[in-house]
Amino acid sequence: MSGGKILIVEDNAKNRMLIRDVLEYHGYKVFEAEDGAAGIAAAMKWHPDLILMDIQMPVIDGMTAVKMLRNAPETRGIKMIALTSFAMKGDREKFLTAGFDDYVAKPIDTRKLSEWIELWLVKSQPLPG
Ligand code: MN
Repeated sequence: MSGGKILIVEDNAKNRMLIRDVLEYHGYKVFEAEDGAAGIAAAMKWHPDLILMDIQMPVIDGMTAVKMLRNAPETRGIKMIALTSFAMKGDREKFLTAGFDDYVAKPIDTRKLSEWIELWLVKSQPLPG
């Protein structure tokens, strides 16, 4: 599939650009925010289909931001995926409990990203394994 709106919330500009390039190549409309508070504002404004959310960010971190988005009627239905450098055993549970639909470990495998997004967006499935 191609199309759909994706919001990248990530304080690392290089990571944002990398992800944006891949997603735009695959036909998605991409929005960016560089911290959790800006991410919440962007989600309210653009109503993305999916949010890729970094965990460690200034102003409002990803775990807090996802909870706030899940508590807001206008954003609670959005697919939300955590981007984390600290994926360890048991982390999936922690992210799901916070409100994420799934998570991916950084550095992100950009060759697989669009495939993953299709799983999340179209099939509403978590990544296998
Ligand atoms: Mn970060």
